[in-house]
Amino acid sequence: MAKIGDTCTFCGRNRREVSLMINGISGAICGDCAQQAYEIVKEQMKSQKSDLGFSKADLPKPEDIKAFLDQYIIGQDDAKRYLSVSVYNHYKRLLQEKTSDDVEIEKSNIIMVGTTGTGKTLMARTIAKLLHVPFAIVDATVLTQAGYVGEDIESILTRLLQAADYDVDAAERGIVFIDEIDKIARKGDNPSITRDVSGEGVQQGLLKLLEGSVVNVPPQGGRKHPEQKMIPVDTKNILFICGGAFDGIEKKIAQRLNTRVVGYAAAKDTAQVDKNNLLKYITPADLKSFGLIPEIIGRLPILTYLNPLDRAALRRILTEPKNSIIKQYVKLFAMDGIELAFDEDVFEFIVDKALEFKLGARGLRSIVEAIMMDAMFTMPSTGGKSLHVTLAYAKEQFEKADVNRLQVS
Ligand code: ADP
Repeated sequence: MAKIGDTCTFCGRNRREVSLMINGISGAICGDCAQQAYEIVKEQMKSQKSDLGFSKADLPKPEDIKAFLDQYIIGQDDAKRYLSVSVYNHYKRLLQEKTSDDVEIEKSNIIMVGTTGTGKTLMARTIAKLLHVPFAIVDATVLTQAGYVGEDIESILTRLLQAADYDVDAAERGIVFIDEIDKIARKGDNPSITRDVSGEGVQQGLLKLLEGSVVNVPPQGGRKHPEQKMIPVDTKNILFICGGAFDGIEKKIAQRLNTRVVGYAAAKDTAQVDKNNLLKYITPADLKSFGLIPEIIGRLPILTYLNPLDRAALRRILTEPKNSIIKQYVKLFAMDGIELAFDEDVFEFIVDKALEFKLGARGLRSIVEAIMMDAMFTMPSTGGKSLHVTLAYAKEQFEKADVNRLQVS
């Protein structure tokens, strides 16, 4: 009588005709059939995934999105609200597309203006984490017009494809964060004086992506080689979030606000202007006078700003976010069985140093790193079970460290 495993239950071939046979309870499958089954499952999963991944009912609402952002990002309430609403609308728009009526909701790409290190990237990254969509960060400074040294605009989509494991459907509903968008502003007011390789030309190229079009993307990035097979990617449903520091834009905002000072009512208005945070009053006109072309501004209809981080914000960033720097160190030490505790005044000291060296939120990590370096080096071998960081210890360790090496990474 034939035993289980003598023949493949799927193709009927004999054990001797196949390289591998896997036995089950009441049948067997050969290596070739298993491979084929795997391909079918993979295809099936892909087609399921290309559905949006959530229905209207379980799409997180703006308040849910903001509450999620609150767990990771301190302050920046205005930006969070804008971002939550526009991301919600973006995904509503994707769900909407399946019904056919005449009202077509347009895409709302976002632009965030704020000094470096205030949480723009963190914000975009956290949104992508919530939505489980592919997410790519690109730096606008490396982009140049096609034909010049630097990266082609299409490389933005290469990154997104890579983040999506080359699943084009997934990439086509992903999020791209374009950092330092201010660096491709037009230099000078007259665009035709010199050829502005990294300015206006790049903006024109970017426009194509923001508008939504099918772009041929080199799968490995870099320059387009004629022999490289391109992957067509439709950018219609990709959400673009741009960020930039726009250094000096405050002056333009101030100028604009001042020109409004006519008559008594206006004077009263300007009296209420928060001079320490002019970014609050930013309008698309300011972006234009900074050197973004009107077409790009038109394609970034959601404009929001981030507040500079004050002492209180830095102090909260140190310990409050779900994966705050201090929580990360406590976990690192716990993995070696060491209980790590800090005195409250150590946190104040860390914030003082970050302010003193003008390192912002990014500097907090390097200061903590400097304080903890010795302990991280010796404790895993000495087998200590706890470390209580006092202000005296923190000061001593910090002074030992080479301050010049404190980097903002
Ligand atoms: P940006 O993109 O604005 O230059 P990032 O988002 O990269 O700044 O912020 C740098 C780091 O500083 C983040 O990884 C985070 O650790 C910290 N950080 C900055 N702003 C905040 C904030 N508002 N809340 C929590 N952490 C922040």
